[in-house]
Amino acid sequence: MQDYRYIESLATLKLDQQTCIGCGNCNTVCPHRIFDMEAKKAVIRDLDACMECGACAKNCPVDAISVTPGVGCAAAIVGSWINTITGRNVLKGCC
Ligand code: SF4
Ligand code: SF4
Repeated sequence: MQDYRYIESLATLKLDQQTCIGCGNCNTVCPHRIFDMEAKKAVIRDLDACMECGACAKNCPVDAISVTPGVGCAAAIVGSWINTITGRNVLKGCC
């Protein structure tokens, strides 16, 4: 998704390709088309478009994906961005 950009290289999304079994769930559920499949493994195609919603991690059958906060809550996601930018723990949790 080219219209939505995160702060460059700040997204917490991590993919363990060794653990990935190539089911494609992450590629299917991601609303921002972050993933591609290559050689039967998921790859992160566009990290800076990740909104850290956590849908990919919740739908990965082998826990190959981690992302924080990954709660699907806009308040928690924006709060974590503000905390990261300011270096302070100003906003906590989700609503
Ligand atoms: S956290 Fe959400 S936006 Fe980011 S890669 Fe996973 S499904 Fe896509
Ligand atoms: S959901 Fe998990 S196992 Fe399936 S392709 Fe994505 S990373 Fe691999």
